[in-house]
Amino acid sequence: MIEVHDLHRHFGGFRAVDGASITIRTGSITGLIGPNGAGKSTLFNVIAGVLPPTSGRVIMDGEDITGLPPHALFHRGLLRTFQMAHEFSSMTVRENLMMVPGGQTGEVLWNSWFGRKRIAGEERALRARADAVLDFLTISHVAEEKAGNLSGGQKKLLELGRCMMVDAKIVFLDEVGAGVNRTLLMTIADAIVRLNRERGYTFCVIEHDMDFIGKLCDPVIVMAEGKVLAEGPADSIMANEAVVEAYLGR
Ligand code: ADP
Ligand code: MG
Repeated sequence: MIEVHDLHRHFGGFRAVDGASITIRTGSITGLIGPNGAGKSTLFNVIAGVLPPTSGRVIMDGEDITGLPPHALFHRGLLRTFQMAHEFSSMTVRENLMMVPGGQTGEVLWNSWFGRKRIAGEERALRARADAVLDFLTISHVAEEKAGNLSGGQKKLLELGRCMMVDAKIVFLDEVGAGVNRTLLMTIADAIVRLNRERGYTFCVIEHDMDFIGKLCDPVIVMAEGKVLAEGPADSIMANEAVVEAYLGR
């Protein structure tokens, strides 16, 4: 689904991503691991149109998507999750889901004058969809809660939920398990697996928890110092000497 060719992203003279090439197979849950500062988040940001590359190409389904802005990628079904924007924290969890663009109507004046009935119907459908997403993620009980009051793990589930409000093709998750307790981490893992199997979502996940990566991801790509160091099934990656060395340092 995604091919990244010889991607560079430099900051001044510093090569955060230094000629990385990766492939993300349709239907896979691909893991991206590597020591802090390896360039993983920068690579995600370039793929997701948040940062322009210094050079290199990103191809999605055979089409060049290099440098397209996030909203254009969103329309192609490519999503990168972000921490909840501040202004959403005072809205309820359900409202947060109903706000996701693509599900909305009513911004257009024409609609607001002539389409009231239709909007009411669509709003009901949107609400039903939000409730189905909350049910899927096992967080129906916090539907009316202000999003800002959620635990770290519940916020991560809400981020996933926002991806489910549109029909995403590929979702990029950056450290989805950071600061999340074990139980919620497993709930998040379950949600990812179900979205993958039942809805056909492809995932690329950056995560430090090797247990999570080992259970979920195939293949696993290892980055170090802006380059791809190794790629393969989790067990062979974890037995790879160069990978162990990159983590332990010289
Ligand atoms: P990772 O996600 O693998 O921990 P990052 O992609 O966040 O690594 O960062 C890779 C390197 O690039 C780090 O050394 C970081 O300090 C540097 N870097 C990231 N973003 C910027 C930026 N906007 N300006 C300057 N340096 C940056
Ligand atoms: Mg990072």
